[in-house]
Amino acid sequence: MTIRVRFAPSPTGSLHIGGVRTALFNWLFARQNNGAFVLRLEDTDLERYLTDAERGITTSLQWLGLDWDEGPEVGGLFGPYRQSERIDLYRAEAQRLLKSEMAYLCYCTPEELAIMRQEARQSGLAPRYNGKCRHLDRAARQKKEAAGFLPVIRLKTPGEGSTIVSDLIRGEVSFENNTLDDFIIMKSNGIPTYNFACVVDDSLMQINYVIRAEEHLSNTPKQILLYRALGYNLPFFAHVPMILAPDRSKLSKRHGATAVEEFRLQGFLPEAIVNYLALLGWSPGDEREKIPLNEIIKLFSLNAVSKSAAIYDLKKLTWLNAQYLNSLPLERIITDAIPFFQKLGLIPDQTEQIDYLYLAKVVETVRTRIHTLVELAEAATYFFKTDFDYEEKGVRKFFSPLHAAEILVHGREVLAKTEPFDLSTVEAAYRNLSHTLGVAGGKLIHPTRLALTGKTFGPGLFDIMVTLGQTKCLERLDRAIIWIKNNLG
Ligand code: GLU
Repeated sequence: MTIRVRFAPSPTGSLHIGGVRTALFNWLFARQNNGAFVLRLEDTDLERYLTDAERGITTSLQWLGLDWDEGPEVGGLFGPYRQSERIDLYRAEAQRLLKSEMAYLCYCTPEELAIMRQEARQSGLAPRYNGKCRHLDRAARQKKEAAGFLPVIRLKTPGEGSTIVSDLIRGEVSFENNTLDDFIIMKSNGIPTYNFACVVDDSLMQINYVIRAEEHLSNTPKQILLYRALGYNLPFFAHVPMILAPDRSKLSKRHGATAVEEFRLQGFLPEAIVNYLALLGWSPGDEREKIPLNEIIKLFSLNAVSKSAAIYDLKKLTWLNAQYLNSLPLERIITDAIPFFQKLGLIPDQTEQIDYLYLAKVVETVRTRIHTLVELAEAATYFFKTDFDYEEKGVRKFFSPLHAAEILVHGREVLAKTEPFDLSTVEAAYRNLSHTLGVAGGKLIHPTRLALTGKTFGPGLFDIMVTLGQTKCLERLDRAIIWIKNNLG
């Protein structure tokens, strides 16, 4: 049996991390089993349909590397893959249910339904449809139609007994059928409800594993009743637990970025997000945090997904991002980092004008100490700007002491003669100088760093020197020497 799973977002907004995690678990399961990962857009909720949202979702999935085998645009044997293009299929299936008397037309007005709800509440029951139109005969229906009432279609539900959801993550969950009323499957405008469209599609698209968010667990008994009424085979179900904020509240805007696009703009890498989300509710059974994707694909198991809610931890994601920034091929980081450098005006917008060699050296030097691409560009600013200020604290500590300018003059002299201008030669020259001057290395290194970068911290000084190159180093030392004379002399 080929494993077929799907991710079925409603294009009503951006793709958030909860959605990505659901998509990812489906994708991992498909890739592990050489199955098919289907993308289906549940866009029948026309009022809330946002045209850009579909593109936003597909762009985010692509950026994350979660490619789909079938879906809108790419097509496939079971299309179309937008529910709005499948309305005829739902109508045909609804007609089939009407014919077999598994479903019926209901003409109840909003007022009648309100009374029903009130009555239920008064007798201490959950609000539910009371089956009023279940037994309308033909004549009664014709009368309603003649009076212009547009019917909805409701499924006849058993009303007693229970429906058991056998869930791969949660085990068996039993629902009392008397809590499920004759729910609507087609609205009066001829548009299917979520539960109906979902079951028809999952079945016609031959989805055999339905892996989705836990919030849909309460829909599953209804869907199981629909599968039975339609004579379809049941898929396996797996409901993935929620992702909660650290305070265990629902994850929302006030906890920071939640949309993929926001993470991208904040300089997170897709690899880090995917790795992080894979571990949110699932674990390979050891303590590892950074796991290559091909291993995650191999090790992933629905049975090992936790039943309890996962707690979102931005610190861990940020830490992982730093790990990936450091370990992915340099060219890859450069490509991703370019827009961030451009945004700060550090490199030209025209890519053909970029000095890639210099950019590569800068990224290599800085990437070991930062967590995001935003931080990378910020931390690299002084490699591109020459008019930076000197940190005040640094000026007090390293430029103010007597002989600071003199020490820099010596440093400049030595660097002017250093050949080749590479790491070991530069380092040896500077160590030698501190020896000759009889000063501790720090006395030389700290003011030099401040002169070259304006900062008191950062990558190793000799790495900075080599990255800047000899000319820039000498210019910057000159600038600092003059500055000290003018401001502190
Ligand atoms: N469109 C539904 C959602 O976005 C899909 C639910 C499901 O996977 O069945 O929540």
